Amino acid sequence: MFTCKYCGTEFTEHKPNCPNCGAPIKVADKKVTKEDAPKSIRKICIKYEEVSNLYLDEVIDAKRMKTVRENFDIPENENIIMVYDDTIFGNNKVGFAICAGGLYWKNDWTIESKRNFLNWDEFSKREIALDKFQINLERGDNIGTAGVGDDEARKQMVKMLGEIKELLS
Ligand SMILES: [Zn+2]
Repeated sequence: MFTCKYCGTEFTEHKPNCPNCGAPIKVADKKVTKEDAPKSIRKICIKYEEVSNLYLDEVIDAKRMKTVRENFDIPENENIIMVYDDTIFGNNKVGFAICAGGLYWKNDWTIESKRNFLNWDEFSKREIALDKFQINLERGDNIGTAGVGDDEARKQMVKMLGEIKELLS
């Protein structure tokens, strides 16, 4: 879907000019639809696959998948794209999961959070900030990332979430 920045008219095929007001339309103005968002999100995740403690769907074994689903409260019909393991032991009982419908996470007892899930629509409205060992998403929502002993990895995760936000806003 394309949206004219000037008059808000929406149209499906790219046109050089807005059919309503005539303003020039760039291909880059294409808005991501709900249907193709997971595919675009996955493309972003692939770029960060080598970051410590991040696992892309195709390398997540059944055991990790089950642990993540149970501990992060992810519904059976939800599609998991990438998980972050915030444990030192690699059991993935805490961390976050980037899914088709939104972001799920589970913290250890040291990190408080009002919520443990944000759908992508809500997520796209939040500011993302790294505060030492946690990622803050405003409104009392925090994701613990102390388990990865690597500052650069945390920065990369914030960058990845920022790219997803940009894609969806
Ligand atoms: Zn227009």
